Amino acid sequence: MPVVPGTAGRLTVKVSSASASQTVPAPPAVEAAALRLNPLGIVVLVLLYCAAGKIGLAMASVHASASPVWAPTGIAMAAFLLYGRAVWPTILLGAFLVNITTAGTAATSLGIAIGNTLEGLLAGLLVQRYAGGARVFDRPQDVFKFVALAAAGCTALSATIGVTSLALGGAAAWADFWTIWRTWWLGDATGALLVTPLVVLWVRKPRPGWSGRQAAEAAALLVVLVAVGSLVFRHAPVAGGSAPPLMFLALPPLIWAAFRFGPRETVAAACLLSGIAVWGTLRQAGPFPEGALNESLLLLQVFLAVKSVTAVVLAALVAEHRRAHAALAARGAELTRSNTELEQFAYSASHDLREPLRMVISFLQLIEQRYRGRLDADADDFIRLAVDGAKRMQALIEDLLAYSRAGRSAADTMTESARALDEALANLGTALRESRARVTRGVLPPVAVDGTRLVQLFQNLVGNAIKYRGDAEPEIHVDAARRGEQWLLTVRDNGIGIAPDYQEKIFGMFQRLHSRERYPGTGMGLPICRRIVEAAGGRIWMESAPGKGAIFFFTLPAQVTRAAAPPADGVAPAA
Ligand code: ADP
Repeated sequence: MPVVPGTAGRLTVKVSSASASQTVPAPPAVEAAALRLNPLGIVVLVLLYCAAGKIGLAMASVHASASPVWAPTGIAMAAFLLYGRAVWPTILLGAFLVNITTAGTAATSLGIAIGNTLEGLLAGLLVQRYAGGARVFDRPQDVFKFVALAAAGCTALSATIGVTSLALGGAAAWADFWTIWRTWWLGDATGALLVTPLVVLWVRKPRPGWSGRQAAEAAALLVVLVAVGSLVFRHAPVAGGSAPPLMFLALPPLIWAAFRFGPRETVAAACLLSGIAVWGTLRQAGPFPEGALNESLLLLQVFLAVKSVTAVVLAALVAEHRRAHAALAARGAELTRSNTELEQFAYSASHDLREPLRMVISFLQLIEQRYRGRLDADADDFIRLAVDGAKRMQALIEDLLAYSRAGRSAADTMTESARALDEALANLGTALRESRARVTRGVLPPVAVDGTRLVQLFQNLVGNAIKYRGDAEPEIHVDAARRGEQWLLTVRDNGIGIAPDYQEKIFGMFQRLHSRERYPGTGMGLPICRRIVEAAGGRIWMESAPGKGAIFFFTLPAQVTRAAAPPADGVAPAA
Protein backbone atom coordinates (compact mmCIF):
# COMPACT_ATOMS: atom_id res chain seq x y z
CA MET A 1 0.00 0.00 0.00
CA PRO A 2 1.25 3.45 -0.83
CA VAL A 3 1.60 6.31 1.53
CA VAL A 4 0.46 9.80 0.78
CA PRO A 5 2.21 12.60 2.57
CA GLY A 6 -0.48 14.51 4.37
CA THR A 7 -0.75 18.13 5.34
CA ALA A 8 1.07 19.52 8.37
CA GLY A 9 3.62 16.79 8.20
CA ARG A 10 1.08 14.13 9.06
CA LEU A 11 1.58 10.98 7.18
CA THR A 12 -1.53 9.66 5.62
CA VAL A 13 -1.62 6.09 4.75
CA LYS A 14 -3.15 4.51 1.77
CA VAL A 15 -4.04 1.33 3.38
CA SER A 16 -3.19 -0.73 0.46
CA SER A 17 -2.17 -4.13 -0.18
CA ALA A 18 -1.68 -5.97 -3.24
CA SER A 19 -4.50 -7.95 -4.42
CA ALA A 20 -5.76 -9.43 -7.45
CA SER A 21 -9.10 -9.98 -8.77
CA GLN A 22 -10.11 -11.21 -12.05
CA THR A 23 -12.90 -10.43 -14.29
CA VAL A 24 -11.96 -13.37 -16.31
CA PRO A 25 -15.07 -14.86 -17.72
CA ALA A 26 -15.34 -17.71 -15.29
CA PRO A 27 -17.36 -20.74 -16.14
CA PRO A 28 -20.49 -21.00 -14.06
CA ALA A 29 -20.27 -22.90 -10.81
CA VAL A 30 -16.87 -24.30 -11.51
CA GLU A 31 -14.74 -25.60 -8.74
CA ALA A 32 -11.60 -23.78 -7.71
CA ALA A 33 -9.31 -26.46 -9.01
CA ALA A 34 -10.80 -26.11 -12.47
CA LEU A 35 -10.18 -22.36 -12.77
CA ARG A 36 -7.28 -21.18 -14.90
CA LEU A 37 -6.19 -17.67 -15.71
CA ASN A 38 -5.57 -17.09 -19.40
CA PRO A 39 -3.40 -14.16 -20.63
CA LEU A 40 -6.43 -11.93 -20.98
CA GLY A 41 -7.42 -12.86 -17.46
CA ILE A 42 -3.99 -11.86 -16.20
CA VAL A 43 -4.26 -8.45 -17.84
CA VAL A 44 -7.77 -7.96 -16.47
CA LEU A 45 -6.62 -9.00 -13.01
CA VAL A 46 -3.71 -6.50 -13.02
CA LEU A 47 -5.97 -3.72 -14.29
CA LEU A 48 -8.67 -4.50 -11.76
CA TYR A 49 -6.16 -4.62 -8.96
CA CYS A 50 -4.68 -1.26 -10.01
CA ALA A 51 -8.13 0.32 -10.42
CA ALA A 52 -9.21 -0.83 -6.96
CA GLY A 53 -5.95 0.48 -5.53
CA LYS A 54 -6.30 3.83 -7.30
CA ILE A 55 -9.85 4.28 -6.07
CA GLY A 56 -8.67 3.60 -2.54
CA LEU A 57 -5.83 6.05 -2.91
CA ALA A 58 -8.02 8.69 -4.45
CA MET A 59 -10.31 8.59 -1.45
CA ALA A 60 -7.35 8.97 0.83
CA SER A 61 -5.76 11.83 -1.05
CA VAL A 62 -9.01 13.76 -1.14
CA HIS A 63 -9.44 13.43 2.56
CA ALA A 64 -5.84 13.15 3.59
CA SER A 65 -6.42 9.94 5.44
CA ALA A 66 -6.30 6.27 5.11
CA SER A 67 -8.54 4.39 2.78
CA PRO A 68 -11.03 2.64 5.00
CA VAL A 69 -11.38 -0.39 2.81
CA TRP A 70 -8.43 -1.64 0.84
CA ALA A 71 -10.26 -3.67 -1.77
CA PRO A 72 -7.09 -4.99 -3.49
CA THR A 73 -6.43 -7.22 -0.47
CA GLY A 74 -9.79 -8.88 -0.99
CA ILE A 75 -9.13 -9.20 -4.72
CA ALA A 76 -5.73 -10.78 -4.12
CA MET A 77 -7.01 -13.30 -1.59
CA ALA A 78 -9.88 -14.24 -3.87
CA ALA A 79 -7.47 -14.72 -6.78
CA PHE A 80 -5.24 -17.01 -4.74
CA LEU A 81 -8.26 -19.00 -3.57
CA LEU A 82 -9.73 -19.34 -7.04
CA TYR A 83 -6.60 -19.72 -9.16
CA GLY A 84 -4.02 -21.08 -6.74
CA ARG A 85 -0.53 -19.94 -5.91
CA ALA A 86 0.52 -19.58 -9.56
CA VAL A 87 -1.23 -16.23 -9.58
CA TRP A 88 1.51 -14.58 -7.48
CA PRO A 89 3.40 -12.81 -10.29
CA THR A 90 0.17 -11.14 -11.41
CA ILE A 91 -0.53 -9.89 -7.90
CA LEU A 92 3.06 -8.75 -7.42
CA LEU A 93 2.93 -6.80 -10.67
CA GLY A 94 -0.42 -5.18 -9.83
CA ALA A 95 0.72 -4.23 -6.34
CA PHE A 96 4.01 -2.83 -7.60
CA LEU A 97 2.31 -0.77 -10.32
CA VAL A 98 -0.26 0.69 -7.98
CA ASN A 99 2.41 1.74 -5.50
CA ILE A 100 5.08 2.99 -7.88
CA THR A 101 2.57 5.16 -9.73
CA THR A 102 1.32 6.70 -6.51
CA ALA A 103 4.12 7.50 -4.12
CA GLY A 104 7.42 6.24 -2.85
CA THR A 105 10.49 4.85 -4.52
CA ALA A 106 10.92 1.67 -6.51
CA ALA A 107 12.42 0.07 -3.41
CA THR A 108 9.53 0.94 -1.08
CA SER A 109 7.01 -0.01 -3.77
CA LEU A 110 8.68 -3.35 -4.22
CA GLY A 111 8.76 -3.94 -0.46
CA ILE A 112 5.07 -3.11 -0.16
CA ALA A 113 4.21 -5.22 -3.21
CA ILE A 114 6.07 -8.21 -1.74
CA GLY A 115 4.14 -7.78 1.51
CA ASN A 116 0.86 -7.61 -0.37
CA THR A 117 1.67 -10.68 -2.44
CA LEU A 118 2.81 -12.71 0.56
CA GLU A 119 -0.37 -11.74 2.38
CA GLY A 120 -2.57 -13.14 -0.38
CA LEU A 121 -0.37 -16.19 -0.99
CA LEU A 122 -0.29 -17.15 2.67
CA ALA A 123 -4.02 -16.54 3.06
CA GLY A 124 -4.66 -18.77 0.04
CA LEU A 125 -2.46 -21.57 1.41
CA LEU A 126 -3.93 -21.42 4.93
CA VAL A 127 -7.52 -21.30 3.76
CA GLN A 128 -6.85 -24.10 1.31
CA ARG A 129 -5.33 -26.19 4.07
CA TYR A 130 -7.69 -25.45 6.95
CA ALA A 131 -10.89 -23.81 5.74
CA GLY A 132 -12.15 -25.52 2.60
CA GLY A 133 -10.33 -23.48 -0.07
CA ALA A 134 -12.64 -21.75 -2.52
CA ARG A 135 -15.59 -23.24 -0.60
CA VAL A 136 -14.58 -21.30 2.50
CA PHE A 137 -17.78 -19.22 2.52
CA ASP A 138 -20.08 -22.24 2.33
CA ARG A 139 -19.83 -23.17 6.01
CA PRO A 140 -19.88 -20.91 9.09
CA GLN A 141 -16.97 -22.67 10.78
CA ASP A 142 -14.81 -22.10 7.69
CA VAL A 143 -15.84 -18.44 7.58
CA PHE A 144 -14.59 -18.05 11.15
CA LYS A 145 -11.30 -19.67 10.19
CA PHE A 146 -11.02 -17.30 7.24
CA VAL A 147 -11.57 -14.33 9.55
CA ALA A 148 -8.91 -15.51 11.98
CA LEU A 149 -6.30 -16.83 9.55
CA ALA A 150 -6.65 -14.62 6.50
CA ALA A 151 -8.50 -11.42 7.35
CA ALA A 152 -6.90 -10.88 10.76
CA GLY A 153 -3.69 -12.91 10.52
CA CYS A 154 -2.21 -12.55 7.05
CA THR A 155 -3.07 -8.87 6.82
CA ALA A 156 -0.80 -8.24 9.81
CA LEU A 157 2.06 -9.61 7.70
CA SER A 158 1.35 -7.19 4.89
CA ALA A 159 0.98 -4.27 7.29
CA THR A 160 4.26 -5.14 8.98
CA ILE A 161 6.26 -5.56 5.77
CA GLY A 162 4.61 -2.50 4.19
CA VAL A 163 5.12 -0.08 7.06
CA THR A 164 8.66 -1.36 7.62
CA SER A 165 9.43 -0.73 3.94
CA LEU A 166 8.09 2.81 4.28
CA ALA A 167 10.07 3.51 7.40
CA LEU A 168 13.26 2.06 5.96
CA GLY A 169 12.78 4.05 2.77
CA GLY A 170 12.27 7.22 4.75
CA ALA A 171 8.66 7.62 3.62
CA ALA A 172 7.34 7.25 7.14
CA ALA A 173 8.65 8.14 10.54
CA TRP A 174 9.41 5.24 12.88
CA ALA A 175 7.49 7.16 15.52
CA ASP A 176 4.33 6.79 13.41
CA PHE A 177 4.91 3.08 12.89
CA TRP A 178 2.03 1.75 14.96
CA THR A 179 -0.44 4.43 13.94
CA ILE A 180 0.16 3.64 10.29
CA TRP A 181 0.30 -0.08 10.95
CA ARG A 182 -3.10 -0.06 12.64
CA THR A 183 -4.80 1.79 9.80
CA TRP A 184 -3.06 -0.35 7.21
CA TRP A 185 -4.00 -3.58 8.93
CA LEU A 186 -7.62 -2.58 9.46
CA GLY A 187 -7.96 -1.42 5.87
CA ASP A 188 -6.59 -4.68 4.54
CA ALA A 189 -8.71 -6.76 6.92
CA THR A 190 -11.88 -4.93 5.93
CA GLY A 191 -10.97 -5.36 2.27
CA ALA A 192 -10.50 -9.09 2.83
CA LEU A 193 -13.77 -9.43 4.72
CA LEU A 194 -15.84 -7.54 2.19
CA VAL A 195 -14.28 -8.22 -1.18
CA THR A 196 -12.93 -11.78 -0.93
CA PRO A 197 -16.35 -13.39 -0.36
CA LEU A 198 -17.91 -11.20 -3.03
CA VAL A 199 -15.40 -12.23 -5.69
CA VAL A 200 -15.07 -15.88 -4.70
CA LEU A 201 -18.79 -16.52 -4.48
CA TRP A 202 -19.74 -14.73 -7.69
CA VAL A 203 -16.86 -16.14 -9.73
CA ARG A 204 -17.75 -19.65 -8.61
CA LYS A 205 -21.34 -19.09 -9.63
CA PRO A 206 -21.75 -15.99 -11.77
CA ARG A 207 -25.41 -16.34 -12.78
CA PRO A 208 -27.99 -15.23 -10.22
CA GLY A 209 -30.43 -17.89 -11.42
CA TRP A 210 -33.42 -16.05 -9.94
CA SER A 211 -37.01 -16.69 -10.90
CA GLY A 212 -39.14 -13.72 -12.00
CA ARG A 213 -40.47 -13.30 -8.48
CA GLN A 214 -37.01 -13.50 -6.98
CA ALA A 215 -35.75 -10.86 -9.40
CA ALA A 216 -38.61 -8.58 -8.27
CA GLU A 217 -37.72 -9.28 -4.64
CA ALA A 218 -34.05 -8.58 -5.37
CA ALA A 219 -35.05 -5.22 -6.85
CA ALA A 220 -37.09 -4.46 -3.71
CA LEU A 221 -34.12 -5.44 -1.56
CA LEU A 222 -31.89 -3.12 -3.58
CA VAL A 223 -34.28 -0.21 -3.06
CA VAL A 224 -34.40 -0.89 0.68
CA LEU A 225 -30.61 -1.16 0.86
CA VAL A 226 -30.09 2.17 -0.86
CA ALA A 227 -32.82 3.76 1.26
CA VAL A 228 -31.32 2.45 4.49
CA GLY A 229 -27.80 3.40 3.37
CA SER A 230 -28.75 6.93 2.55
CA LEU A 231 -30.87 7.30 5.67
CA VAL A 232 -27.94 6.29 7.87
CA PHE A 233 -25.03 7.79 5.96
CA ARG A 234 -26.39 10.81 4.13
CA HIS A 235 -27.18 13.08 7.02
CA ALA A 236 -24.46 15.52 7.97
CA PRO A 237 -23.97 15.70 11.69
CA VAL A 238 -25.81 18.51 13.39
CA ALA A 239 -23.57 21.28 14.69
CA GLY A 240 -21.60 20.15 17.70
CA GLY A 241 -23.09 16.67 17.59
CA SER A 242 -23.32 13.73 15.25
CA ALA A 243 -25.86 12.18 12.95
CA PRO A 244 -28.31 9.77 14.59
CA PRO A 245 -26.54 6.47 15.30
CA LEU A 246 -28.73 4.36 13.05
CA MET A 247 -26.03 1.87 11.97
CA PHE A 248 -28.04 -1.02 13.32
CA LEU A 249 -30.56 -0.44 10.52
CA ALA A 250 -28.02 -2.09 8.23
CA LEU A 251 -28.76 -5.48 9.72
CA PRO A 252 -32.38 -6.17 8.66
CA PRO A 253 -31.71 -5.94 4.89
CA LEU A 254 -28.72 -8.27 5.31
CA ILE A 255 -30.82 -10.75 7.26
CA TRP A 256 -33.45 -10.47 4.53
CA ALA A 257 -30.81 -11.25 1.89
CA ALA A 258 -29.46 -14.21 3.85
CA PHE A 259 -32.84 -15.80 4.47
CA ARG A 260 -34.52 -15.11 1.14
CA PHE A 261 -31.52 -15.40 -1.15
CA GLY A 262 -28.10 -16.87 -0.48
CA PRO A 263 -24.50 -16.06 0.43
CA ARG A 264 -23.78 -14.38 -2.92
CA GLU A 265 -26.63 -11.92 -2.65
CA THR A 266 -25.91 -11.31 1.04
CA VAL A 267 -22.26 -10.37 0.50
CA ALA A 268 -23.27 -8.23 -2.47
CA ALA A 269 -25.76 -6.43 -0.23
CA ALA A 270 -23.11 -6.01 2.47
CA CYS A 271 -20.67 -4.57 -0.09
CA LEU A 272 -23.26 -2.13 -1.41
CA LEU A 273 -24.03 -0.91 2.09
CA SER A 274 -20.31 -0.64 2.80
CA GLY A 275 -19.83 1.45 -0.34
CA ILE A 276 -22.55 3.85 0.80
CA ALA A 277 -21.07 3.92 4.31
CA VAL A 278 -17.57 4.76 3.03
CA TRP A 279 -18.93 7.38 0.67
CA GLY A 280 -20.99 9.03 3.43
CA THR A 281 -18.24 8.92 6.02
CA LEU A 282 -15.69 10.45 3.67
CA ARG A 283 -18.20 13.26 3.08
CA GLN A 284 -18.30 13.63 6.84
CA ALA A 285 -21.89 12.46 6.93
CA GLY A 286 -23.44 9.61 8.86
CA PRO A 287 -22.95 8.50 12.43
CA PHE A 288 -19.14 8.11 12.42
CA PRO A 289 -17.63 11.53 11.74
CA GLU A 290 -17.08 12.46 15.30
CA GLY A 291 -13.78 14.04 16.15
CA ALA A 292 -10.83 13.45 13.86
CA LEU A 293 -11.58 11.92 10.48
CA ASN A 294 -8.97 9.27 11.10
CA GLU A 295 -10.82 8.08 14.17
CA SER A 296 -14.15 8.06 12.40
CA LEU A 297 -12.62 5.98 9.63
CA LEU A 298 -11.30 3.49 12.13
CA LEU A 299 -14.77 3.27 13.66
CA LEU A 300 -16.19 2.82 10.20
CA GLN A 301 -13.69 0.03 9.49
CA VAL A 302 -14.70 -1.82 12.60
CA PHE A 303 -18.38 -1.37 11.72
CA LEU A 304 -17.81 -2.64 8.19
CA ALA A 305 -15.75 -5.59 9.40
CA VAL A 306 -18.33 -6.65 11.98
CA LYS A 307 -21.21 -6.16 9.57
CA SER A 308 -19.46 -8.13 6.87
CA VAL A 309 -18.53 -11.06 9.12
CA THR A 310 -22.09 -11.14 10.47
CA ALA A 311 -23.54 -11.15 6.96
CA VAL A 312 -21.21 -13.85 5.62
CA VAL A 313 -21.63 -16.11 8.64
CA LEU A 314 -25.40 -15.68 8.67
CA ALA A 315 -25.63 -16.40 4.95
CA ALA A 316 -23.40 -19.47 5.28
CA LEU A 317 -25.49 -20.66 8.22
CA VAL A 318 -28.75 -20.28 6.33
CA ALA A 319 -27.25 -21.91 3.23
CA GLU A 320 -25.91 -24.78 5.31
CA HIS A 321 -29.29 -25.22 6.95
CA ARG A 322 -30.94 -25.28 3.52
CA ARG A 323 -28.46 -27.87 2.27
CA ALA A 324 -29.04 -30.03 5.33
CA HIS A 325 -32.77 -29.70 4.88
CA ALA A 326 -32.56 -30.64 1.21
CA ALA A 327 -30.28 -33.59 1.99
CA LEU A 328 -32.69 -34.77 4.65
CA ALA A 329 -35.65 -34.45 2.31
CA ALA A 330 -33.76 -36.34 -0.39
CA ARG A 331 -32.83 -39.05 2.09
CA GLY A 332 -36.44 -39.24 3.27
CA ALA A 333 -37.70 -39.55 -0.30
CA GLU A 334 -35.10 -42.21 -1.00
CA LEU A 335 -36.10 -44.14 2.10
CA THR A 336 -39.77 -43.95 1.18
CA ARG A 337 -38.97 -45.11 -2.31
CA SER A 338 -36.89 -48.07 -1.21
CA ASN A 339 -39.45 -48.91 1.45
CA THR A 340 -42.20 -48.88 -1.14
CA GLU A 341 -40.12 -51.06 -3.39
CA LEU A 342 -39.54 -53.53 -0.58
CA GLU A 343 -43.22 -53.55 0.32
CA GLN A 344 -44.11 -54.11 -3.28
CA PHE A 345 -41.63 -56.93 -3.47
CA ALA A 346 -42.97 -58.56 -0.30
CA TYR A 347 -46.51 -58.18 -1.54
CA SER A 348 -45.83 -59.55 -5.02
CA ALA A 349 -43.70 -62.40 -3.73
CA SER A 350 -46.26 -63.55 -1.17
CA HIS A 351 -49.14 -62.99 -3.57
CA ASP A 352 -47.53 -64.97 -6.38
CA LEU A 353 -46.41 -67.75 -4.03
CA ARG A 354 -50.00 -68.37 -2.93
CA GLU A 355 -51.19 -70.05 -6.09
CA PRO A 356 -48.46 -72.70 -6.54
CA LEU A 357 -48.56 -73.37 -2.82
CA ARG A 358 -52.28 -73.94 -2.92
CA MET A 359 -51.65 -76.50 -5.66
CA VAL A 360 -48.92 -78.23 -3.65
CA ILE A 361 -51.24 -78.48 -0.65
CA SER A 362 -54.17 -79.80 -2.73
CA PHE A 363 -52.11 -82.54 -4.32
CA LEU A 364 -50.41 -83.45 -1.08
CA GLN A 365 -53.82 -83.78 0.54
CA LEU A 366 -55.00 -85.87 -2.38
CA ILE A 367 -52.03 -88.21 -1.96
CA GLU A 368 -52.71 -88.29 1.77
CA GLN A 369 -56.33 -89.38 1.23
CA ARG A 370 -55.74 -91.84 -1.59
CA TYR A 371 -52.63 -93.56 -0.37
CA ARG A 372 -53.02 -93.53 3.43
CA GLY A 373 -52.31 -97.10 4.59
CA ARG A 374 -51.30 -98.25 1.10
CA LEU A 375 -47.68 -97.25 1.48
CA ASP A 376 -45.58 -98.04 4.51
CA ALA A 377 -45.96 -96.24 7.89
CA ASP A 378 -42.97 -93.95 7.22
CA ALA A 379 -44.51 -92.74 3.97
CA ASP A 380 -47.75 -91.83 5.81
CA ASP A 381 -45.71 -89.84 8.31
CA PHE A 382 -43.73 -88.06 5.61
CA ILE A 383 -46.87 -87.09 3.76
CA ARG A 384 -48.46 -85.79 6.94
CA LEU A 385 -45.35 -83.72 7.74
CA ALA A 386 -45.29 -82.35 4.19
CA VAL A 387 -48.97 -81.29 4.41
CA ASP A 388 -48.23 -79.70 7.79
CA GLY A 389 -45.23 -77.77 6.52
CA ALA A 390 -47.06 -76.58 3.43
CA LYS A 391 -49.99 -75.38 5.53
CA ARG A 392 -47.64 -73.49 7.82
CA MET A 393 -46.04 -71.87 4.84
CA GLN A 394 -49.49 -70.91 3.63
CA ALA A 395 -50.31 -69.32 6.97
CA LEU A 396 -47.04 -67.37 6.89
CA ILE A 397 -47.65 -66.14 3.38
CA GLU A 398 -51.19 -65.08 4.23
CA ASP A 399 -49.88 -63.16 7.21
CA LEU A 400 -47.18 -61.48 5.14
CA LEU A 401 -49.84 -60.42 2.67
CA ALA A 402 -52.02 -59.14 5.49
CA TYR A 403 -49.05 -57.23 6.83
CA SER A 404 -48.45 -55.59 3.44
CA ARG A 405 -52.09 -54.59 3.16
CA ALA A 406 -52.21 -53.31 6.73
CA GLY A 407 -50.05 -50.36 5.68
CA ARG A 408 -52.92 -49.12 3.59
CA SER A 409 -55.30 -48.51 6.47
CA ALA A 410 -55.47 -44.76 6.09
CA ALA A 411 -57.81 -42.95 8.47
CA ASP A 412 -60.01 -41.75 5.65
CA THR A 413 -63.23 -43.70 6.33
CA MET A 414 -65.37 -43.99 9.45
CA THR A 415 -66.15 -47.45 10.78
CA GLU A 416 -68.56 -48.48 13.53
CA SER A 417 -66.26 -50.32 15.90
CA ALA A 418 -69.20 -52.24 17.41
CA ARG A 419 -70.03 -53.72 14.03
CA ALA A 420 -66.40 -54.48 13.30
CA LEU A 421 -66.23 -56.37 16.61
CA ASP A 422 -69.40 -58.30 15.72
CA GLU A 423 -67.83 -59.37 12.46
CA ALA A 424 -64.59 -60.38 14.12
CA LEU A 425 -66.49 -62.46 16.69
CA ALA A 426 -68.49 -64.13 13.92
CA ASN A 427 -65.23 -65.09 12.21
CA LEU A 428 -63.95 -66.49 15.51
CA GLY A 429 -67.20 -68.38 16.13
CA THR A 430 -65.72 -71.88 16.41
CA ALA A 431 -62.86 -70.85 18.68
CA LEU A 432 -65.24 -68.89 20.89
CA ARG A 433 -67.60 -71.81 21.23
CA GLU A 434 -64.89 -74.38 21.83
CA SER A 435 -63.20 -72.30 24.49
CA ARG A 436 -66.57 -71.21 26.03
CA ALA A 437 -65.26 -67.67 25.97
CA ARG A 438 -67.43 -64.81 27.22
CA VAL A 439 -67.05 -61.51 25.42
CA THR A 440 -68.49 -58.33 26.93
CA ARG A 441 -68.24 -54.77 25.71
CA GLY A 442 -68.79 -51.14 26.65
CA VAL A 443 -70.16 -48.51 24.29
CA LEU A 444 -68.07 -48.72 21.15
CA PRO A 445 -67.84 -45.60 18.96
CA PRO A 446 -67.31 -45.01 15.27
CA VAL A 447 -63.60 -44.53 14.51
CA ALA A 448 -61.64 -43.29 11.52
CA VAL A 449 -60.14 -46.46 10.07
CA ASP A 450 -60.86 -48.83 7.21
CA GLY A 451 -63.55 -51.36 8.21
CA THR A 452 -61.79 -54.51 6.99
CA ARG A 453 -58.68 -53.55 8.91
CA LEU A 454 -60.59 -52.93 12.12
CA VAL A 455 -62.23 -56.36 11.85
CA GLN A 456 -58.78 -57.87 11.41
CA LEU A 457 -57.45 -55.91 14.38
CA PHE A 458 -60.22 -57.13 16.70
CA GLN A 459 -59.93 -60.63 15.30
CA ASN A 460 -56.20 -60.80 16.04
CA LEU A 461 -56.57 -59.40 19.56
CA VAL A 462 -59.65 -61.42 20.57
CA GLY A 463 -58.18 -64.49 18.84
CA ASN A 464 -55.02 -64.12 20.94
CA ALA A 465 -57.10 -63.65 24.09
CA ILE A 466 -58.70 -67.01 23.36
CA LYS A 467 -55.49 -68.71 22.27
CA TYR A 468 -53.42 -67.56 25.24
CA ARG A 469 -56.09 -68.36 27.82
CA GLY A 470 -55.26 -69.76 31.21
CA ASP A 471 -57.04 -72.52 33.11
CA ALA A 472 -60.21 -70.49 33.56
CA GLU A 473 -62.68 -69.96 30.74
CA PRO A 474 -61.74 -66.86 28.76
CA GLU A 475 -63.38 -63.60 29.76
CA ILE A 476 -62.79 -60.84 27.28
CA HIS A 477 -63.92 -57.24 27.63
CA VAL A 478 -63.75 -54.66 24.85
CA ASP A 479 -64.18 -51.00 25.76
CA ALA A 480 -63.54 -47.47 24.55
CA ALA A 481 -62.84 -44.06 26.09
CA ARG A 482 -62.41 -40.67 24.46
CA ARG A 483 -58.89 -39.19 24.62
CA GLY A 484 -58.93 -35.78 22.94
CA GLU A 485 -59.08 -36.21 19.18
CA GLN A 486 -58.85 -39.98 19.47
CA TRP A 487 -60.62 -42.95 20.93
CA LEU A 488 -58.70 -45.27 23.19
CA LEU A 489 -59.92 -48.84 22.69
CA THR A 490 -59.02 -51.69 25.01
CA VAL A 491 -59.20 -55.48 24.75
CA ARG A 492 -58.78 -57.08 28.16
CA ASP A 493 -58.48 -60.81 28.89
CA ASN A 494 -57.90 -63.10 31.84
CA GLY A 495 -55.30 -65.27 30.10
CA ILE A 496 -51.71 -66.29 30.81
CA GLY A 497 -50.33 -62.75 30.55
CA ILE A 498 -46.85 -61.62 29.52
CA ALA A 499 -43.82 -60.61 31.56
CA PRO A 500 -42.95 -56.87 31.24
CA ASP A 501 -39.66 -57.61 29.43
CA TYR A 502 -41.50 -58.99 26.41
CA GLN A 503 -44.32 -56.50 26.15
CA GLU A 504 -42.65 -54.41 23.46
CA LYS A 505 -40.89 -57.26 21.72
CA ILE A 506 -44.11 -59.12 20.81
CA PHE A 507 -45.04 -56.34 18.38
CA GLY A 508 -41.98 -57.21 16.26
CA MET A 509 -42.33 -59.45 13.21
CA PHE A 510 -42.17 -63.21 13.85
CA GLN A 511 -41.70 -62.69 17.59
CA ARG A 512 -43.24 -65.53 19.59
CA LEU A 513 -42.90 -66.44 23.22
CA HIS A 514 -43.99 -70.07 23.01
CA SER A 515 -43.28 -73.16 20.97
CA ARG A 516 -45.48 -73.94 17.98
CA GLU A 517 -46.48 -77.23 19.55
CA ARG A 518 -47.89 -75.44 22.58
CA TYR A 519 -49.52 -72.48 20.83
CA PRO A 520 -49.69 -72.50 17.04
CA GLY A 521 -49.04 -69.21 15.25
CA THR A 522 -46.72 -67.25 12.98
CA GLY A 523 -45.77 -64.34 15.22
CA MET A 524 -47.31 -61.92 12.74
CA GLY A 525 -50.64 -61.13 14.45
CA LEU A 526 -49.50 -58.23 16.62
CA PRO A 527 -47.17 -56.68 13.97
CA ILE A 528 -50.21 -56.59 11.68
CA CYS A 529 -52.22 -54.91 14.45
CA ARG A 530 -49.49 -52.34 14.98
CA ARG A 531 -49.29 -51.58 11.29
CA ILE A 532 -53.05 -51.09 10.96
CA VAL A 533 -53.16 -48.76 13.95
CA GLU A 534 -50.08 -46.72 13.03
CA ALA A 535 -51.15 -46.31 9.42
CA ALA A 536 -54.40 -44.84 10.72
CA GLY A 537 -52.47 -42.41 12.94
CA GLY A 538 -52.81 -44.26 16.24
CA ARG A 539 -50.63 -46.16 18.68
CA ILE A 540 -50.81 -49.63 20.18
CA TRP A 541 -49.31 -51.03 23.37
CA MET A 542 -50.12 -53.48 26.13
CA GLU A 543 -49.95 -53.98 29.87
CA SER A 544 -49.81 -57.34 31.55
CA ALA A 545 -48.27 -59.52 34.21
CA PRO A 546 -47.72 -63.28 34.02
CA GLY A 547 -50.87 -65.11 35.12
CA LYS A 548 -52.82 -61.86 35.46
CA GLY A 549 -54.27 -61.51 31.98
CA ALA A 550 -53.41 -58.79 29.45
CA ILE A 551 -54.85 -55.47 28.30
CA PHE A 552 -54.16 -54.31 24.78
CA PHE A 553 -54.65 -50.58 24.21
CA PHE A 554 -54.88 -48.85 20.87
CA THR A 555 -55.88 -45.38 19.78
CA LEU A 556 -57.67 -44.42 16.58
CA PRO A 557 -58.77 -41.00 15.31
CA ALA A 558 -62.31 -40.03 16.24
CA GLN A 559 -62.81 -38.13 12.99
CA VAL A 560 -61.57 -38.30 9.46
CA THR A 561 -59.29 -35.32 9.08
CA ARG A 562 -58.31 -33.66 5.86
CA ALA A 563 -54.75 -34.56 6.72
CA ALA A 564 -55.69 -38.24 6.96
CA ALA A 565 -52.61 -40.29 6.30
CA PRO A 566 -52.36 -41.33 2.68
CA PRO A 567 -51.70 -45.01 2.01
CA ALA A 568 -48.48 -45.73 3.83
CA ASP A 569 -46.90 -47.27 0.81
CA GLY A 570 -47.41 -48.11 -2.78
CA VAL A 571 -48.41 -51.66 -2.12
CA ALA A 572 -50.97 -53.11 -4.42
CA PRO A 573 -54.53 -52.63 -3.27
CA ALA A 574 -56.05 -55.04 -0.84
CA ALA A 575 -57.27 -58.08 -2.61
P1 ADP B 1 -48.82 -65.44 17.32
O1 ADP B 1 -50.04 -65.44 18.15
O2 ADP B 1 -49.02 -65.99 15.97
O3 ADP B 1 -47.67 -66.09 18.02
P2 ADP B 1 -48.81 -62.61 17.71
O4 ADP B 1 -47.99 -61.59 17.04
O5 ADP B 1 -50.27 -62.47 17.67
O6 ADP B 1 -48.34 -63.96 17.08
O7 ADP B 1 -48.38 -62.68 19.21
C1 ADP B 1 -47.01 -62.65 19.56
C2 ADP B 1 -46.80 -63.27 20.91
O8 ADP B 1 -47.37 -62.43 21.90
C3 ADP B 1 -47.49 -64.59 21.08
O9 ADP B 1 -46.64 -65.61 20.64
C4 ADP B 1 -47.77 -64.64 22.56
O10 ADP B 1 -46.64 -65.14 23.21
C5 ADP B 1 -47.92 -63.20 22.94
N1 ADP B 1 -49.34 -62.81 23.11
C6 ADP B 1 -50.11 -62.20 22.20
N2 ADP B 1 -51.33 -61.96 22.71
C7 ADP B 1 -51.34 -62.43 23.96
C8 ADP B 1 -52.30 -62.46 25.02
N3 ADP B 1 -53.52 -61.95 24.86
N4 ADP B 1 -51.94 -63.00 26.19
C9 ADP B 1 -50.72 -63.50 26.36
N5 ADP B 1 -49.75 -63.50 25.41
C10 ADP B 1 -50.05 -62.97 24.23
